[in-house]
Amino acid sequence: MTSHMMPTFARVNLAFERGDGVWLTATNGERYLDFTSGVAVNALGHAHPHLVAAMTAQAQKLWHVSNLYEIPEDERAAKRLCEASFADVVFFCNSGAEAMEGAIKTARKYQSVSGHPEKYRIVTFEGAFHGRTLATLAAGGQKKYLDGFGPVVEGFDQVPFGELDAVKRAIGKETGAILIEPVMGEGGVRVVAPLFLKALRELADRHGLMLIFDEVQCGMGRTGELFAYQRTGVTPDIMALAKALGGGFPVGAVLATGEAATGMTAGTHGSTFGGNLLAMSAVNATLDVMLAPGFFDHVKRIAILFKQRLAEIKDRYPALIAEVRGEGLLVGLRALVPAGALVDALRGEHLLAVGAGDNVVRLLPPLIVSEQEIAEGVARLDRACAKLDRMRSPALGNGGGKEAAG
Ligand SMILES: *Cc1c(COP(=O)(O)O)cnc(C)c1O
Repeated sequence: MTSHMMPTFARVNLAFERGDGVWLTATNGERYLDFTSGVAVNALGHAHPHLVAAMTAQAQKLWHVSNLYEIPEDERAAKRLCEASFADVVFFCNSGAEAMEGAIKTARKYQSVSGHPEKYRIVTFEGAFHGRTLATLAAGGQKKYLDGFGPVVEGFDQVPFGELDAVKRAIGKETGAILIEPVMGEGGVRVVAPLFLKALRELADRHGLMLIFDEVQCGMGRTGELFAYQRTGVTPDIMALAKALGGGFPVGAVLATGEAATGMTAGTHGSTFGGNLLAMSAVNATLDVMLAPGFFDHVKRIAILFKQRLAEIKDRYPALIAEVRGEGLLVGLRALVPAGALVDALRGEHLLAVGAGDNVVRLLPPLIVSEQEIAEGVARLDRACAKLDRMRSPALGNGGGKEAAG
């Protein structure tokens, strides 16, 4: 069958027709345990009753009015995001890349209206991912994504991940901001040490730079706090959100302090769909669930349990898994076989996972995952590893790793 989709994605031959919590049902009726969550999007699982009810009610009232008018639901969502974070103001948009574009523009405009139009350059980190627009690709600096798309947007200076001296050397008269993911997602689930973030904060303060956090993936509860920076004690000036912000509905946001946003006055920035009513009902409903008492206690408790069980799997299959890394339910297994082969083997056991840089397999269960579902996921991981292990070393019969205890 010829597809009329532009073939920009290497898709697996599998389609789903419904979802329920942590489970997806394929078009052939088979059920899959979803530890991908639409790549860190469906934080509350599929068809969460509160989200379904909120969006159904909104869908029957009003979808879109444009930003020519006041939108009380935007105000409400923005107020709640600010009260739950460092921020004073929010700009709503539609995706992670658009949120990052807004964050970059906010930083540059701040420098410009503060009398430093020359400070437009931004220090970023190798291996980072900030989106697929021309500026966010330049920020990420990955050659494989930039190739063939013309001149690279000027003004981004990549330094090696985790190297403070390189950051210091990269800061010059034209530097206006530092941009980092507090937990690098696509780059291989690499957690940035709180001390490193603290050092970036100090450098930013000393040199008059904006500190921008890209929490598009690690934000909205993934790490066990509403925002990843909250576990570090370091606050940014500007932060980008998207992925889980609408629990599966496309929406992004730029959060900023009042000072950082001083340049973003009427007419400086915009987005037709930004703050759309359906999107805002998704954000508000997501916040209803996440801000309810006990929600993050659950995430933290489940995350510890998950990490422990994964450490056991790593010990059982030392030839397959080198390391368990991550924070909260943003977990990575650094594989010693091609990560893609492990993802395929997991799918063979009807467990969905997704690859990342550094030969890592990401496990991103919905935050509402239960203890039982974690146990089920780990059992499937165990079976997939046992099969891979046998394939790797057929001479060893029942697997090169230690035998599973039961
Ligand atoms: C996914 C992602 C983006 C881009 O988000 P899109 O919605 O795909 O544009 C940006 N930054 C990070 C950290 C991401 O994980």
